[in-house]
Amino acid sequence: MARTHALGMPRIGAKRELKFALEAFWRGEIDEAALRATASGIRQANWQRQASAGLSHVAVGDFAYYDPMLTHVALLGCAPARFGFAGTLGLADYFQLARGNADHHAMEMTKWFDTNYHYLVPEFRPDTNFALDEGWLFDEVAEAQTAGFTPKPVLIGPLTFLYLGKEKVAGFDRFDLLDRLLPVYGQILARLKAMGVEWVQIDEPILALDLPATWRAAFERAYHTLNAAGVKLLLATYFGPLAENLRVATALPVAGLHVDAVRGGAELTQVIDWLPATKVLSVGIVDGRNIWKTDLAAAFNRLDGLHQNLGDRLWLAPSCSLAHVPASLAAEAALDPELKSWLAFADEKLGEMQTLARALNAGRTAVAAALADNTAALASRRASARVHNPAVAARLANLGATDDQRTSPFARRQTAQRARFRLPDFPTTTIGSFPQTPDIRAARAAFKRGALDAAGYQAAMQHEIEYAVRKQEALGIDVLVHGEAERNDMVEYFGEQLAGYAFTQFGWVQSYGSRCVKPPLIYGDVSRPQPMTVAWTRYAQSLTARPMKGMLTGPVTMLQWAFVRDDQPRSQTALQIALALRDEVTDLEAAGIGIVQIDEPAYREGLPLRRADWPAYLDWASRAFRLSASGVADATQIHTHMCYSEFNDILPAIAAMDADVITIETSRSDMELLRGFGDFAYPNEIGPGVYDIHSPRVPAVAEMTRLLEKAAAVIPARNLWVNPDCGLKTRSWPETETALANMVAAAQSLRANHEGRRPAPRD
Ligand code: GLN
Ligand code: ZN
Repeated sequence: MARTHALGMPRIGAKRELKFALEAFWRGEIDEAALRATASGIRQANWQRQASAGLSHVAVGDFAYYDPMLTHVALLGCAPARFGFAGTLGLADYFQLARGNADHHAMEMTKWFDTNYHYLVPEFRPDTNFALDEGWLFDEVAEAQTAGFTPKPVLIGPLTFLYLGKEKVAGFDRFDLLDRLLPVYGQILARLKAMGVEWVQIDEPILALDLPATWRAAFERAYHTLNAAGVKLLLATYFGPLAENLRVATALPVAGLHVDAVRGGAELTQVIDWLPATKVLSVGIVDGRNIWKTDLAAAFNRLDGLHQNLGDRLWLAPSCSLAHVPASLAAEAALDPELKSWLAFADEKLGEMQTLARALNAGRTAVAAALADNTAALASRRASARVHNPAVAARLANLGATDDQRTSPFARRQTAQRARFRLPDFPTTTIGSFPQTPDIRAARAAFKRGALDAAGYQAAMQHEIEYAVRKQEALGIDVLVHGEAERNDMVEYFGEQLAGYAFTQFGWVQSYGSRCVKPPLIYGDVSRPQPMTVAWTRYAQSLTARPMKGMLTGPVTMLQWAFVRDDQPRSQTALQIALALRDEVTDLEAAGIGIVQIDEPAYREGLPLRRADWPAYLDWASRAFRLSASGVADATQIHTHMCYSEFNDILPAIAAMDADVITIETSRSDMELLRGFGDFAYPNEIGPGVYDIHSPRVPAVAEMTRLLEKAAAVIPARNLWVNPDCGLKTRSWPETETALANMVAAAQSLRANHEGRRPAPRD
């Protein structure tokens, strides 16, 4: 009998119950008991779902009040010493680690592998000690048992835990903490065994990464220690093939291995060859990262032979935790029924596994109706006219070899642009958005509700645009923006206007803590029925003689922050989006807009987990960007913008985008990020951020001048722009005005101290 299980469930609740309870608790509106009751309700509902779908065990320990890594820090008693917490960590302390307090900044947050989830980074020092905290995990195991479920506790493995943390002291290697850490894992496992637990899932997703040899070699020793506890261990790997880590993973002294058969399917035969005949193999056959229905017939065909071989030793699971997809399709009443029939969220994925397991155990006829439904849904998706647009396909097929290249090399374009715009040295600009005031949000909400008509909404937004333009003129900014008042979100705004995109009502996924995002679905060929930003931008330009910068979200970011169709390569979808954006860029140019910024904040996030896969990604990603940007004349200036990531290891690829100007976030690293651009001799113009927009603090003129002088030491002064780190939508007007006035003053002081190299300014 093949059995089914899940590596983890969505943690926020089907209606984002955890988000609302957390925020109410932080505001002091509910007490800890009420928060705990909500959390318990979410866990119970998840267990009930797993049990109803026929799963033999339910995942326990996949829940977290803020973040599973932080909960693991609590379990291991290794909260950063700087907070001074001693003994068992209470909920209030826990939230201080996550959110900071008056004396200590929060633990750092970073992306969980290549997902859009952010975890809190464990902090390690030579004196970090580990001591088992008697708290949550054991309570939750008991809670599940009391409710009649068979728990399979889920733990982050020791090597992944250390690897994803960070040393807070120089000259020390967190790897050295392993020997101190393993005994605590031993205690946890012994305790679980004493509670009657049979299986424990230990997650080691770093086995899907390029691992240093010392880390790979340590697995054997670590799992030898853990295995001594006598509880059955299921080692879970996910997010990619195991490649050179495969032999290590299959040879470990554990009772079972989970592999991601969606991303690592090609290796499955090899895994079976290497896996000792006593071990359980959990096959992650259902995509835990995306929202499309599984092709059950194809999955059955892959599993059937395996099942005959492995019998009881075959387990089925989603490829990874289901925390990366929304909870359930049930609530999506407004979604087009045909499109909905192609989708599977977490609940529906559990149902798919149930169907597959029954087909294996009782024969296909036992689930004939479910299989037929699945086949029909897939056939409708394959053939649907809403997916396939021949015009889009034809346009891509007919792309010329130079369509992704500007007419002239950068030097020629720079001359043309300088002659056209006659900007001063160190020109000032902003990244696009201005404060999203309560007025703006109220107008947008009223328009959506139907309480404000189209003309009223347009007038309200034009009023905001005019306000932003006048402010920028008064501040003396050189290249203006319209302020993005009409945009709720930089991806949603465009997605809503593009064919091939759809939006759910409740498709929320946790981003971090109480923050959730609702990614759009890209289900079909992408095209642009009509201009998306031209009217607003043209209106903004009509108000001023200064250049108005058009503002678009780039193809890679549009892709990265969505659930993307899986029936063609991501690169193909990126190129389709690029062509839609290209039309917008050329329409803006035709409307008299001379400068267009194409934002790519998610450019680096798209990098594959394995370095060997980077060149192929960077190749199509930069091509998609260039395709969107290259339809314009030399004298039209293309900007791009990136933020909050490490750029230094992909500089050649950033240069290959060939934007005339790149604005990047640098102020928090005190311009350190820029050093790479200097060493690499980045060929085009750069605007390093001098104003950290995450803080209400207004930087002084001298501070920004110092940052700019630092930048001018590594970047030729003639290529430098002056701008904030990122958009200003989360700030308020008064602080924004003061900060920008200081920024303009800083640019002026630089102009006074550096030789002018541009043609004389116009005024
Ligand atoms: N133009 C966008 C804004 O200013 C850019 C946002 C971003 O980089 N995430 O809001
Ligand atoms: Zn940004």
